Amino acid sequence: MGSGSTTTPGDGSRIAGVSGTGGVGKGTVIAALRDRLEGWTVSVSATTRRPREGERDGVSYHFVTDAEFDRMIAEDELLEWARFGGNRYGTPWRSVREPLAAGRPILLELEINGALAVQKEFPQALLIFLHPPDLGTLVARMQGRGADDERRVAERMALAEWELAQASAFDHRVVNDDIDAAADAIARILAAGAG
Ligand code: 5GP
Repeated sequence: MGSGSTTTPGDGSRIAGVSGTGGVGKGTVIAALRDRLEGWTVSVSATTRRPREGERDGVSYHFVTDAEFDRMIAEDELLEWARFGGNRYGTPWRSVREPLAAGRPILLELEINGALAVQKEFPQALLIFLHPPDLGTLVARMQGRGADDERRVAERMALAEWELAQASAFDHRVVNDDIDAAADAIARILAAGAG
């Protein structure tokens, strides 16, 4: 492992992760960040969820079957993986090792458990927690999803509370009240810390 300000490829000091509560808009902020991150690679995760409209295989995600995801776990191809909303998501080792070996910093998008797993593997990784503008907005958004029964809303709220309680484990916290402002703030943190 490197120490202090050294940025030897592979020591984790060039890995950054953006995480945050469900529904906070990580994907949108990272999409806005792409234009601001010269020289950075944004990791493409593997997932068992189906592509949404406009998503492209190999760009948004590597969309894989359950069997393929099982194989990736069994063959130790994932740096971390987690379940979210009935699907599985994971960071392929390959998409981290290749940029690091080439000396390029890499940005990961992760739900909270994944971010904590990356922190364990790479203590020097720079982890950013994206906060919702306020709790009221989050509650309104959850309750606004009509078809949900009360128990589902309560489960989501409990999860959001747990997620918010993890924020202190992160190196930086950014509030997502404006996508461009949040992307600017993260770009500044990355430029100062890990690039
Ligand atoms: P979505 O289905 O909305 O694209 O993503 C659902 C959740 O999975 C989001 O919180 C997103 O940040 C997270 N996610 C995406 N890729 C990964 C990954 O590789 N690992 C982990 N742990 N979470 C991921």
